[in-house]
Amino acid sequence: MGRCNLCLQEKELKLSHIIPHFAVKWLKETSLTGYLRGLTSNKRHQETRREYLLCGDCEQLLGRDEREFCQQVFNPYHEAKQTSFAYDVWLKRFLIGVHWRVIVTANDSCPETVRAILDRTAETWRRFLLNESDDDGGAELHLFFADIIEGCTFVPPKKANWYLARGFDATPAFNKMEMCLSMRNSSR
Ligand SMILES: [Zn+2]
Repeated sequence: MGRCNLCLQEKELKLSHIIPHFAVKWLKETSLTGYLRGLTSNKRHQETRREYLLCGDCEQLLGRDEREFCQQVFNPYHEAKQTSFAYDVWLKRFLIGVHWRVIVTANDSCPETVRAILDRTAETWRRFLLNESDDDGGAELHLFFADIIEGCTFVPPKKANWYLARGFDATPAFNKMEMCLSMRNSSR
């Protein structure tokens, strides 16, 4: 039992993925070893990070957007090399949902001013995801499709192709002027 981070009600909490489960499953199924590996160490992992974050109802609410993204974009891209997609509000909800999970579970230390922006954004997105508000906080959401580098005018960093094709990375990044939240789970 605990307080659901989305609806804020005291309920039984589910162990939620931060990186969507379908993407983690795909990565394991298409890997040579069936395991996941970190960028900075060779340690094998069975799972990406999970936390007791949401109640069953809220997990289902966000799960609907994940399912749409998986069926309409992720699978057609990987299985049929489809490169154009019809989309609806579920795409925006999916992208905001993933970013919201990242910022509410981010425990990296960051300056207080940045933490305040993250907290404010998380609250705006929480209400958006619950369909209580249309306000997306003015967020710009971009979805890039990455692939491996076949030609380059300089020697790319070691593991660059691995990172582009099969890496999961969810890193809030910021500088003094701007803040941007970057979330990658591109894959090939
Ligand atoms: Zn809930």
